[in-house]
Amino acid sequence: MTQEARDLSFRDLPFEDLPFGKIAAASPEALGLLMLKTDIHATRLDDRAQLAAVSDALADGVATAEDLRKRFPGLAPHEITRELQVPIVATDDDPMVGSIWRFAEYRSRPSRIVLYTRGLAPLEQALAGNLAKRLLGGASTQDVFVAHELYHHAELTRAEIPISRRYQATLLQIASWRWRTGIATLSEIAAGSFAQTMLDLPCHPKVLDYVAWPVLRLGIREPIRAMKP
Ligand SMILES: [Zn+2]
Repeated sequence: MTQEARDLSFRDLPFEDLPFGKIAAASPEALGLLMLKTDIHATRLDDRAQLAAVSDALADGVATAEDLRKRFPGLAPHEITRELQVPIVATDDDPMVGSIWRFAEYRSRPSRIVLYTRGLAPLEQALAGNLAKRLLGGASTQDVFVAHELYHHAELTRAEIPISRRYQATLLQIASWRWRTGIATLSEIAAGSFAQTMLDLPCHPKVLDYVAWPVLRLGIREPIRAMKP
C-alpha cells in the first residue's frame, strides 16, 4: 500500500437517523461494529467474526499506542512524528474527491501526514463550544488526525501483518479455491483506538464523522462550494 486516506465518505454514513447523543455515548466496540457495517467485505463475516475483528482492531490500536509511548516517553503524537521523520504538511487543496471528504491522510514514499485545512474547517466549526471538550477532552482536531495517521505510519512500517489483512472475507469460492480480501475498515478502527489511547480522548474519534456530517450535508445541498473560503 503506498497511500492511505483517512476520510469521511458520504456513502459511509447510513446511520444519520441515529440521535447524536447515542453515537457520542456509544462504546468503541459499538462504533467499530457500525463502521464494519459500511465495509462491503466485512459484511461477509458472521456476527461472531465481526465482533472478534473489532476487538482485535481496538486492542491493536491500544497496544501500538503503548509501544510508542514506551519508545517516546512524554512526547505528543506530533512530536513523535518529528522523531520518526514523518513531516506534517497542511494543505488548502480541495478536500473533496468524488464522494470522499478528506480530513487528513497518510502518504508513504516519502512518508508524510497531510492535513486538509479546508477539510477540517467545517468539523472545527461544528465542534465549537462545549462539544469539543466533551468529545476531545484537551486535544485539538489536528492532534486527533495526526495521531490517527501516525498509526497508519506505524502499521505500514512494522513487520507484523496489518490488522486489515488479519481477517479475510471470501469473495468467491470454487471447490477448494478461494478468492479472499482483507478488510480495510479494521485499520480505521485501530487508528481511532490508537488516537483515543495516545490522547486520552473521552470517546473513539469516529464520532467526529457524525459531528461533521450535518455541516457537510448542508454544504452539499447548498452546494458544497458555498462552504469554501
Ligand atoms: Zn485512516
